[in-house]
Amino acid sequence: MKETKNIESLCVQAGYDPKNGQERIPAISQSITFKYDKTQDVQDLFDLKVPGHFYSRLSNPTVEVLEKKITALEGGIGALALSSGQAAATIAFLTLAQAGDHIVSANNIYGGIHSLLASTLKRMGIATSFVRYDDLAGVEEAIQENTKAIYAETISNPSAEVIDIQGLADIAHRHHIPLIVDNTFATPVLCRPFDYGADLVIHSTSKYIDGHATSIGGIIVDSGNYDWAQGKTPLLTEKDPAYHGLSYTESFGPLAYLTRARAVYLRDLGASLSPFNAFLTNLGAETLALRMEKHSENALKVAKFLQGHEKVDWVRYPFLEDSPSYENAKKYLKAGSGVLSFGVKGGREEAARVIDNLNFISLVVHVADVRSHALHPASSTHRQLSDQDLAAAGIDKNLIRLSVGIEDPQDIIEDLDQALRA
Ligand SMILES: *Cc1c(COP(=O)(O)O)cnc(C)c1O
Repeated sequence: MKETKNIESLCVQAGYDPKNGQERIPAISQSITFKYDKTQDVQDLFDLKVPGHFYSRLSNPTVEVLEKKITALEGGIGALALSSGQAAATIAFLTLAQAGDHIVSANNIYGGIHSLLASTLKRMGIATSFVRYDDLAGVEEAIQENTKAIYAETISNPSAEVIDIQGLADIAHRHHIPLIVDNTFATPVLCRPFDYGADLVIHSTSKYIDGHATSIGGIIVDSGNYDWAQGKTPLLTEKDPAYHGLSYTESFGPLAYLTRARAVYLRDLGASLSPFNAFLTNLGAETLALRMEKHSENALKVAKFLQGHEKVDWVRYPFLEDSPSYENAKKYLKAGSGVLSFGVKGGREEAARVIDNLNFISLVVHVADVRSHALHPASSTHRQLSDQDLAAAGIDKNLIRLSVGIEDPQDIIEDLDQALRA
């Protein structure tokens, strides 16, 4: 393929460059294992001396196509695809933090990752301080001697707030730690966090990258900009007895982080992406640029419609001029993506009633695919959060999360109007 940096071309063509006579569409390598001629070949693979596939828990040619495509889209040096966005987050944290360590996270993050940090990793000895995403002084104050990363979402799920990536990156780098950004809602089409100083990007590819709600998946991308050898990440610099005493930074240089993530956690935890899901996700990604444009255009129309509606209390969408995120949105995003939230006048029951009256927009526990969906987070995705945590995450009890699809916007607007009036 000709060298290009154009995002629309990369969506379609990056990740796979067929040789003479090869399939034009990347094949589904539905094989667990791969054949070699000599024991030495396999030994070299196990010692991580040469690249190559030997067991699909660790790597697979179809999965690799997706890894290369997302690497190109984000402008990184490599990627590790995983079985879900949750797996991507878990392994992103575990690759650099262990018991006794600490993470600083924005408080307005996806419910599943909030639970991961606040509960599961906490029980494993990794503590997290949650701070307001827009309080940079508070973020800096929360950093401790044992802090290993700052974590935040480009556009938060479900509150659709936009972070100051550069501001957070500057703080992280002053303290010699990496900034990890979850870029799921923006996608590299609307924002490339590495351009503003983020060091690692993670995605739930189950959302816009797949785009059709067929395949759960996740990915971690390394920018190549963070110097893992500088000593703040002993898991990467010190000799690992679980890998013949090698040091990842000494043996793999800039790829130290991704190598440890794959070699240790796919080996030990096994959260690998299936070749079939990788194939479908890659197919979806081919139209990502087109879809993000249409999702964003529709969502802005719907947001403006809701803003003028008598039954609506408030609307949050990054590109509404009165949005607290408007300045960050203009600075970091090409467009606002497809997710918005709004408050129904009344409370929990009124919000639930609106959802029950929708008939074009469907009630599903998912966002960010071609169809329009609505959900009431307080009674679903964020159900495990206490009222206090809900408030801290910016989720009101009357909040409806709306994932605006790529249908004709008039159909979406008419359905909302009748449901609000019913
Ligand atoms: C959905 C989501 C996740 C979790 O991804 P799964 O693929 O469902 O495991 C993580 N981060 C964000 C921002 C999400 O929207």
